[in-house]
Formats: sequence, C-alpha cells, structure tokens
Amino acid sequence: MFSYIVAQRLVPLIRGERDFRFDHPWVRLERVLKYWLGQWKQPRYRAAGTLHIFIFAGFLVLAIRAFSVLIVGVSQDFVMPSLSGRAGHIYDIITDYAATVVFLCMVVAIVRRLVFKPARYAVPARYGKSHTPDAIFLLALIAILMLADSLFAAVKASALPSQGQPFEVLAAFSLPWMLRNVLVSTPLATLGSLYFSAYLVHELTFYFLLCYRPFGIQFHVETSLFNIYFAKLDREILKPVRWAVSDEHLDQVKSFGVKRFEDFTWKHMLDFYSCADCGRCSDNCPANAVGRPLSPRFITIKARDYSFQHYPVFGRVKNGTPLVGSVYSQDEIWSCTTCGACEEECPLLVEYIDKIVDLRRGMVDEGNVPQSLQKPLKALESRGNPYGKMEKKRADWANTKEFQQTCHVKTLVDHNGTKTLYFVDSITSYDDRMQAIGRSTAKILNHIGENFGILGAAERDSGHEVRRFGEEMLFVALRDHNVDAIKASGAQRIVTADPHAYNALKHDYKDVPPVEHISQVIAREVEAGKIKFNPIENEMDVYTYHDPCYLGRHNQIYDDPRDVLDAIPGLKRVEMKRSRDRSFCCGGGGLMLFYEPKEDQRMGVKRVQMAADAGANVIVTACPFCMVNIEDAIKVAGMEGKMSAIDLTELVDRQIASKYVDKVKEPAAEIKECVTASSNSLK
Ligand code: SF4
Ligand code: SF4
Repeated sequence: MFSYIVAQRLVPLIRGERDFRFDHPWVRLERVLKYWLGQWKQPRYRAAGTLHIFIFAGFLVLAIRAFSVLIVGVSQDFVMPSLSGRAGHIYDIITDYAATVVFLCMVVAIVRRLVFKPARYAVPARYGKSHTPDAIFLLALIAILMLADSLFAAVKASALPSQGQPFEVLAAFSLPWMLRNVLVSTPLATLGSLYFSAYLVHELTFYFLLCYRPFGIQFHVETSLFNIYFAKLDREILKPVRWAVSDEHLDQVKSFGVKRFEDFTWKHMLDFYSCADCGRCSDNCPANAVGRPLSPRFITIKARDYSFQHYPVFGRVKNGTPLVGSVYSQDEIWSCTTCGACEEECPLLVEYIDKIVDLRRGMVDEGNVPQSLQKPLKALESRGNPYGKMEKKRADWANTKEFQQTCHVKTLVDHNGTKTLYFVDSITSYDDRMQAIGRSTAKILNHIGENFGILGAAERDSGHEVRRFGEEMLFVALRDHNVDAIKASGAQRIVTADPHAYNALKHDYKDVPPVEHISQVIAREVEAGKIKFNPIENEMDVYTYHDPCYLGRHNQIYDDPRDVLDAIPGLKRVEMKRSRDRSFCCGGGGLMLFYEPKEDQRMGVKRVQMAADAGANVIVTACPFCMVNIEDAIKVAGMEGKMSAIDLTELVDRQIASKYVDKVKEPAAEIKECVTASSNSLK
C-alpha cells in the first residue's frame, strides 16, 4: 500500500519540468550528512530544534527495531543479523531509551502545541483551518507506537523468568523498565494477551503511520533525505527560464515561467512534499512580518494541497487551472523581496526564490505587471535605467564642481590601461541622495591609489532586479550590453558599492572580470594599514550595522563591513537582534522601490525600531537601496533627530585619516594628483 501511494505521489513529479540536480554527488552527500543526519539547522530554534534532534535520533535507532518486530510476528525467535548476543543487548538498551525519549518528546510537543501555542504554527484565516488537530493526531500516533513498543519489550522481559528463561536486562528508568516493574506479578496468561495486543497495536500503528504520512506534513519523514540531497548547491544563482535552454534560444521558449502546477520543476514539487510545516520560513519572512499578503510556508502548503487534490492517490488526475488567480494572488507573488530569509532558515532546504521568480515570469509573460512597475520597466528598456533619465547623465554625479576639485573620475574607453572598473549602477548614478555614495566610493578608491574608472554613458542598469522581477529577456539585453562595455573597457577587476550590482555581476553575468564589493576592498586596505581612521567625534553615538540581504545572506559578506567599523577609533557598535544571516530586509531594492504592496507597516520602519531597541542611534548600511528605505523609514517613524543612517562608504570617507595618503604606494601620476588634491581639501 505504501509503495502504491508513493508511486502515485511521484506522478506529478514525472510530469513536472526538468531540473538538473544530479551533479556533484559527493558534495550532495556531504550536505545530507550535515543537514539531514547532522540536523544542522535545527538548533536555530533551540527548543523545537532540540526536540526534533531527539525525535530524529530516536527514529533512526528504532527503524531497525521496527522491522525486526515485524518479522518476530512471523518467526518469534527472529533476531536481526549482527544483533545477537552482547551487541543485541546493547542495542536493546539503546532502543529502550530511544523509545522513552521519543515518547517524552511527543508528550512535550503535544503540550507545546496545545498549551504554549507558538505563534508560528498558527494558520491565519485566509489560509484555511488550523493544522493543530492533524499535528496532534500524528504526534499521538507516534506516542502510541512508542508505548506499544515499550509494552511489547516489557511484557516479554516479565514473562521470560516464569518460562524458565534467563532474566532480560532492561534500560534502567526507561519506559519498558517502568512497565516491566508494573507487570512484575502479572499472571502469564494475561502477559500473553498483553504481548499480542502490544504487538498488534505496534504493527497497525506503524503501518498506518507509514501509509498516512504521504497525505500530509509527515511525508517529510520519507522525502527529506532526497530533498536535501537534491537541494540547490549554488543558491545565489537564479534558476534559468528552462533547464537546457541557453539564453540564445530563449526566443524559442513558448511559455515562460510557472503558470500551471506542472510548470514547476520536479524538485520544486518535491519541496512541496518535504515541508514539515514548522513555520520557520514565515517566522523570518519580512513580508509576512509587516502584513503583506505573503507567507512562504503557505506558498508550499497551498501547492501541496493543490497537488493532492489534482493528483489523488485514488481516482483520476484532474485538469488544472492557472495557479495565479486561483491558488496564489498576484499581490502575494509580487510581495517577495527575494531577501532569502526563508531559505536560510528552512531545515529541509526548501527553495522559494526560484519558485517565486518563476511565478513572476509566468505573470510577466501574460502581461500581468503591476501598474506602478510598467513605467520603470519601459524606461529600463529604452534608457537602461528605471528613472527614464538620459544615458549621458549617468556620470553627472562625478562631474559636480566641488567633487571634481577633490577627485577626478575617469570614464573608461577602449582598453586605456585602467585596471579597475567602478560599476556604479542606476540608483547611485541618478538618485540625488545616493550620488553621495558614488562620490565617497570614488574618493576611497583614490585614497588607496586604485587606478580606476567608470563606464559612464556606456553603463546600463545591472538588471539584477529586472531578472528577479521575471523579465528575463530585458535582463539578458541589459546584461549583454554591460558585458560588451566591460570587455571593451579592458578592466581587470570590478568594484561596486551596490550589493545588487555585485550579486548580478558575480552570479548572473558570465565572462566578466572578478568583482568585489567596496566593503571587501576597504577591509583589506584597513588590514594592510593603507587606510587609517580619525577617532569618532561624537562619542555618544551608538552605531549598528544593517546587513543588506544581497551582501550578507546571498554572498556571506558579514565580517568585512563590521571589521571596518571596528577599526574606527571610538566607534561604539551594537548588534541588532536580527543580524547577519537573520538580518531583516529593509523593504527591497530595485523595482521594489516602485511597488507599493498592501502592508500594515513598512519593513524599513520595523528595521529602524529594531536598531532603536538595540540602543543604536546611527544605522550603517552598505547598500544604496537600504539607504533609501531606512532614511525614508526614519522619517515615517518620526525618528528624525533621534536616528540617522549612513552608508559605509560615506562613514569611511568621513573618518579616513588623510595623513596616511602619503603612504600609498606609487599611484599612477593622474591618481597621485587626485589624491593630493583630495588630501589638501580634507586638511
Ligand atoms: S525571499 Fe524573503 S520576502 Fe520572499 S518569501 Fe522568502 S523571506 Fe519572504
Ligand atoms: S518550508 Fe521549511 S521552514 Fe518553511 S514551514 Fe516548511 S519546513 Fe518549515
């Protein structure tokens, strides 16, 4: 029966889209050892995680016993090979404790669900009814299984001496041991009935559970190992529109993205089966936290319900309807900032960003684009930036008189020997406030003697958000233009101060020189002693660092910006409760700036409150988009004067000690001139 049910569950996977997950078997195996056997992510939620580790370990130990007990029903004296004699006794002692621990964990889990009711298990009314009864039912079944197993062992141990057989040692204070003590003077006939009853209850419960699990959240017990083995190895690289279809052949793809359930890849469907409904993804989702109509947990649960309804175990496959509009709402899919918090948290490595981007690709393909995003998209198509500004104005930020007195920024033309390209991207090029980040970045590069330049009018938007928005063809056009311009510049390395551009250049582009975020460059130069800082003037200020999602979670750059801050004499730094890989998204960058979803509160406002709760009054970030959202949030929260925001480059530029300029190693003549001018001006 179990085999039949699983075979039926595989039907949609066979009908799903292709997904290449068979490479790097050793790396995948290593991840199985870490995330499945090692339960690596479980302790991120201490209480529930510890409980799960105990249950998981108990299940592993009891798996062999479950099968040997089955065979005992046919052959009473059966002993698992290699588990006879001393080894068998040791194994029995371990299983006695394992059954006891799992039983206790079930009791605790039931009490948690019924009495403490952790908020993340709640089901909001718009997502249907509570999952608690189903969870309690399953937990109770496992508790019964453990009880029956222990009773079976206890009765056997109680009966042996009266049958003239040697006394069986049970693990002290375990469940079987306690039950044996209760049964010690029970007549043999009663023990016989109890023995068979315990056996039958154990077997019926075990096989009922086995066949029931594929109908709900417990299916993860069977699928999790495979889900982790086939999990995405390079999480930061977005899934292609279609596997095995190159960009050059994209125009031959008839339908983009996910419209029907069968457009999901088989692995994404396996994700749906593997979700344990633990709620950790939604608990960390910023969109969910501010009341947007998105909860990643329910992206999965709704798809699983859909799959169960349309691919029933008994009965015929039903015709499907388009997902957006029936299963998902448009707002739900546009509400995601692709921050990656859900994926970072999920103990079963369930993927969300690729699915959401695929659903967006499907909507874009059908022309379902929110009104507010249509204008920036058109501008990106015609002008290469979402503001619709002229290409020739891209370098205006570097041409202000005051700035030019301190620093000259070259525009790179055909292989003019400049080593480093500073990729500015649209927001820093055109947004009046963010242009300051561009100027600070250029001054820092000057300070360290970097021979650098920009693409100027030849640069286009990196396309990072365009791609995550689902407009793949537009992204390809922007990317190809930039790749040609970068190649033509002859630059050997790229530096950017925009984590979105950094992520695009590093993961979405091919055949471009290596890219670094400016925080990495600064940290290295600080370490090498090329950058020294003046002490902080206002010693009362308390700083906190906000990790931008595309620098931190997506690229694991957590320490460099912090090292830079800690190198500034007198700078007091505190950590927000949610930091590093648990950082809370500011509200999203790129096109998200043009989208106003329904929400109770702005993400940025929540983030500013977190900074205030940590005791900070200055938020440092390393992303122009974070700066827009956080500065805006400070105003909305009415915290002007009490809280301020500054980009890492601006802070470094402000604190840099100019006397160290002289120590810079022989810069190119032009740069030397520029550095001297900058130094004089600072003096
Ligand atoms: S990527 Fe971020 S916003 Fe999107 S579903 Fe996951 S946690 Fe929520
Ligand atoms: S997707 Fe992962 S984190 Fe979210 S509810 Fe399912 S198992 Fe938990």
